[in-house]
Amino acid sequence: VLITLEGLDGSGKTTQFEQLVEYLRTLGHEFVATREPGGTAAGEALRRLLLDPDLPLTIHSEAFLYAAARAELVERVVRPALYAGRSVVLDRYVDSSVAYQAYGRGLPPEFVMAINEMGTGGLRPHRTILLDLPVALALERKRQAGGDRFERETAEFFERVREGYLELAAAEPERIRVVDASRPPGEVQAEVRRLVREIWPV
Ligand code: C5P
Ligand code: MG
Repeated sequence: VLITLEGLDGSGKTTQFEQLVEYLRTLGHEFVATREPGGTAAGEALRRLLLDPDLPLTIHSEAFLYAAARAELVERVVRPALYAGRSVVLDRYVDSSVAYQAYGRGLPPEFVMAINEMGTGGLRPHRTILLDLPVALALERKRQAGGDRFERETAEFFERVREGYLELAAAEPERIRVVDASRPPGEVQAEVRRLVREIWPV
């Protein structure tokens, strides 16, 4: 199965992802865990480019580069693993681009969906866990963690991203499960594990 984790900057996604991976190792089914953008040599190079504050991108080239990094990862890592019978757990996937590049930056969602459909060959996650929390709380956590280039983004930007995520979840409630990430991390992790276990191969 393909499982993806999504959420705003400051949602605790990285921590939750790491704890989930640790837990899944105890279950005995082989899987691959990786993040995007990244996960391949070219993907990590694209990640550095995408996150470099000194290299501002147009919203179109940004969307294409995220899609390119994703295409690399799908072709080189995700599909081979799935074909070999392993599961894949991903920190971010196409929903990130729809939320950030379409809802956040203002590109048409159909455009973002189309380039990603081509880039991934239409590969969809079996389950997506959306760590949802109010933007003010996410920004506060982000600030405490040190922040990065997204210090430049406004609260309104993140409100649009959050709204985008929630609309995607409302459209596909079976695939995308919304988890209230404003609760203590241990409680969030327990729910994340439960939602993964529902579809995890035994
Ligand atoms: O998930 P992670 O925190 O590693 O994401 C790195 C950065 O890239 C975040 O600041 C996130 O907001 C941004 N991002 C983006 N568009 C995407 C995926 C991530 O702007 N499609
Ligand atoms: Mg992170």
